Amino acid sequence: MKPFRFHQFAYGSDNYGVLMHDPETGQTAAIDAGDASAYQAALVETGWQLSHILLTHHHWDHTDGVKELADATGATIYGPKGDKDGHAHVAKTLQGGDRLDFGAATIEVIATPGHTLDMLNYYLSEQKVCFTGDTLFSLGCGRIFEGDAAMMWDSLSKLIALPADTTIYSSHEYTQANANFALTIDPDNAALIARCASVTEKRAKGQPTVPSLLSEELATNPFLRAYDAAIRAHLNMADASDSDVFAEIRSRKDNF
Ligand code: ZN
Ligand code: FE
Repeated sequence: MKPFRFHQFAYGSDNYGVLMHDPETGQTAAIDAGDASAYQAALVETGWQLSHILLTHHHWDHTDGVKELADATGATIYGPKGDKDGHAHVAKTLQGGDRLDFGAATIEVIATPGHTLDMLNYYLSEQKVCFTGDTLFSLGCGRIFEGDAAMMWDSLSKLIALPADTTIYSSHEYTQANANFALTIDPDNAALIARCASVTEKRAKGQPTVPSLLSEELATNPFLRAYDAAIRAHLNMADASDSDVFAEIRSRKDNF
């Protein structure tokens, strides 16, 4: 199998869209479709023909352009089932555990509820890539709007279990704010300190900090490190459950 190609682009105030292309079959997937014209510009730039749209969750910044983009390209819309606005145009509903043929590969659907109850992430083991929507961000995780902290921790645990060399495409450029917060939770983590410096440098040059490697997140993202002894000591939670430590970190971020 030839390696897939990926094209990431910014839209809205801080969203990222991605196109994924299989050079053998020509199939091309858009991850989310918050803004039809930004996606169409990316298709023009790459010269790829859209065949799939994979929605992560119903929020408008991920779904607003989906009908227009599908109508313009003939792509099939895959996504979660539900009764919210963003669900109305989904042609093929998916749930956690589903497997979907895409080009010469298989997409594994991972349900990661918490930010929203319908959240789906898309993992391709051969391509070592996962699209984490608003569940896992570079140095952060999504705000918990519809689920609870235990549910979100359970969801993040599914991503923690993926191979560490998986590339993580998430949907927002929130990394500088996440870095500032992470340093308050894990101030003595040398890998985090170094990563925060590189984030500041990249952002000063207007460069994206997404995607990242799961190995980087495991070493530096406090939301994945609830088990870490230094973080637990810092929070005075040495004997708490991982889920409770995660909940404390999430609630501190909400008030940061
Ligand atoms: Zn969202
Ligand atoms: Fe979002």
